[in-house]
Amino acid sequence: MNPRVQAALARIRQDVQGMHAYAIQDARGLIKLDAMENPYGLPPALQQELGRRLGAVALNRYPGPRIEELKAALARFVGLPDGAALMLGNGSDELISLLAMACDVPGAAILAPVPGFVMYEMSARLQGLRFVGVPLSPDFALDELALLAALRRERPAITYLAYPNNPTANLWDEGAVRRVIETAASFGGLVVIDEAYQPFASRTWLDVWRAEPEAHGHVLIMRTLSKFGLAGVRLGYLIGAQPLMHELDKVRPPYNVSSLNAEAALFALEHADEYARQATAIRAERARLLQALAAIPGVQPFPSEANMILVRVPDATKAFAGLRARGVLVKNVSTMHPLLAGCLRLTVGTPAENDALLAALPCSL
Ligand code: PMP
Repeated sequence: MNPRVQAALARIRQDVQGMHAYAIQDARGLIKLDAMENPYGLPPALQQELGRRLGAVALNRYPGPRIEELKAALARFVGLPDGAALMLGNGSDELISLLAMACDVPGAAILAPVPGFVMYEMSARLQGLRFVGVPLSPDFALDELALLAALRRERPAITYLAYPNNPTANLWDEGAVRRVIETAASFGGLVVIDEAYQPFASRTWLDVWRAEPEAHGHVLIMRTLSKFGLAGVRLGYLIGAQPLMHELDKVRPPYNVSSLNAEAALFALEHADEYARQATAIRAERARLLQALAAIPGVQPFPSEANMILVRVPDATKAFAGLRARGVLVKNVSTMHPLLAGCLRLTVGTPAENDALLAALPCSL
């Protein structure tokens, strides 16, 4: 190796050198049911209109007033609670990193139920914070006793609750979430309710926030347009009390949302009804898939409030490879956590994609 490269490598943190980059599977030529994307693009006429809008964006300038317009449009879209403010991120992934950065004081911890979204732990590790993962119970519910005990013991700066959770696709018991929020309040910890899958869920914590703003001073709601239908745009947003958002905004890199992202997001919000129809179709397909999966001998699907279904199969590695060989790419989560032994995560696709999955699965077991 070039000795200068070698010398420079020594300056990259040892712990980073021991990590793996976020793995993205090669989906070329496959039916892509691995990443919870919305399978429906825009109808051709809307796609062309979007193209014209993006073509008119002045790319010689840094992102400007359109960013504020996007924030205002999102505030209207979600019905921003009084006293709350909104911050944008390059996907909610960026917001998760920024939160870790903002809470980086000696000994600080980030806590989340596990198995959960991997970026909570990654953000903690990259920032040199402790990550405390509290295992779910075997039926993937919050283990409330363990969770509250861990909160009191660790006093984490941030507690993440993905609502619904990834990869288990369930919502938490409302009483348990309330008790997590109350316990975190007793030591001034932030609670982030990550609602990435909100378009497919029967409940949103934002309603509770709105009804009880006093109790939610330390609670942030995180959303993204990714699952809504704009995974390629990279736009996440965080909602919370104005003074907190004022501070968090200081760790945000300038111009973190591009003009193209902002224009595409504004366009999507103008056509929110189209995306709402797509979400309705995905929920209907989810119901059909759940029923059909349950009828396949050896396959145990778990209930879902998201656009994914976790299934347990006799041999996850074999089933994953069998599906792939038959042209269907899913996510093998069986080694992510002991509770997920034998599990695959299936994204809900179009009816034709789901049919292909249902045809391929029995012969892949
Ligand atoms: N939160 C959860 C629970 C997720 O599953 C994901 C993505 N899979 C994200 C956040 C990140 O979403 P994005 O960065 O695309 O906004």
